[in-house]
Amino acid sequence: MDAREAFRVAFGRAPEGLWSAPGRVNLIGEHTDYNGGLALPIALPQRTYAAASPRADRRLRVVSVQADGLVEVSLDEVGPGRVEGWAAYVAGVPWALERAGFPVPGLDLAIDGRVPLGAGLSSSAALECAVAAAYSDLCVFDLLSTDSGRAQLVSVCRRAENDIAGAPTGGMDQSASLLCRADHALLLDCRDGHTEQVPVDLAAAGLALLVIDTRAHHELVDGQYGARRATCERAAAILGVETLREVADLPAALARLDEDGMRRRVRHVVTEIGRVNDVVVALRAGEYGRVGAIFTASHTSLRDDYEVSCPELDTAVEAAAGAGALGARMTGGGFGGSAIALVPADILPATAEAVRTAFAQQGFREPNCFEVAASAGAGRDE
Ligand code: ADP
Ligand code: MG
Repeated sequence: MDAREAFRVAFGRAPEGLWSAPGRVNLIGEHTDYNGGLALPIALPQRTYAAASPRADRRLRVVSVQADGLVEVSLDEVGPGRVEGWAAYVAGVPWALERAGFPVPGLDLAIDGRVPLGAGLSSSAALECAVAAAYSDLCVFDLLSTDSGRAQLVSVCRRAENDIAGAPTGGMDQSASLLCRADHALLLDCRDGHTEQVPVDLAAAGLALLVIDTRAHHELVDGQYGARRATCERAAAILGVETLREVADLPAALARLDEDGMRRRVRHVVTEIGRVNDVVVALRAGEYGRVGAIFTASHTSLRDDYEVSCPELDTAVEAAAGAGALGARMTGGGFGGSAIALVPADILPATAEAVRTAFAQQGFREPNCFEVAASAGAGRDE
């Protein structure tokens, strides 16, 4: 069942329109966002679809192909801690739009999410951004036609996720889902929100990007994320800088820190920001071998210095490298989720097979491997 059909089944009529927004995968720049650093996501071909019609009242009625039942709330009942479960990602959007000065009506809404849920590929932002795109068109806010309008929607969707869904994430996911363009990566400067489009044409170079969703979720995620963040903030305070982005002389900074763990965290963040810049230069020069080598260096840094990898992610990266990938790395927060591998297009199926075999040998769950290309941001489909 797709979103249109789900709408018909739930509400007994055709929707007024269909909108969609993509998931994302970060090429490089991990755990840099909360340090004022750089990230480089692409939008995925996998998208979340929202079929919608406006209502004359303030009720929000929503169904999802990926969830049971119809959720109904009044927009006046939405607030921090007041909407439970997946519908919070939806209800947060009109709530945040109103707080940004855009009054909105209720909506009948059917969702179909084709981004794997909880795989670190940002199905949550895809959901928020698809709903925001629907509101922008249905209410004629016209926020999708300009970069500045889309940037406003980024803040709205981020607020929906932070305040109503209660997930303390940076803005990378929403920026990617709304601002990415086909055949481009989005260079995102988390210090000032500046963005830049970086052309990525892997197919022309005979290459492909493989996503390996390990389907592993280790319980550590939330606590360890908070702990890493806190360590970075303490290090910045000791070094007298606002964020680790400001560290210009790494050896000098490391010499001023006497905790070994903290030194390694700082070394990851500072070198990772450098690697984002290096990948952008290499992409622009078409030096894909170098891009791959930097991916692998990023994984090593995340595994050994930042300590956010896990056996499944390490196995995925090692198996891909062994099969002939130019480079591979975990992507996203870590402790599960997905890895990416940059591979010659002709060995993509063999690489996926090698990863599956390595997982089977380790007794891990079968991973979900698929090819992705840099795709377009949120928009109207019908
Ligand atoms: P990720 O964003 O990496 O996929 P998150 O934990 O941030 O992982 O978000 C996943 C959550 O988003 C799901 O548990 C669910 O609550 C919600 N969600 C995303 N897509 C859908 C969908 N199509 N239908 C219902 N809920 C969804
Ligand atoms: Mg998410």
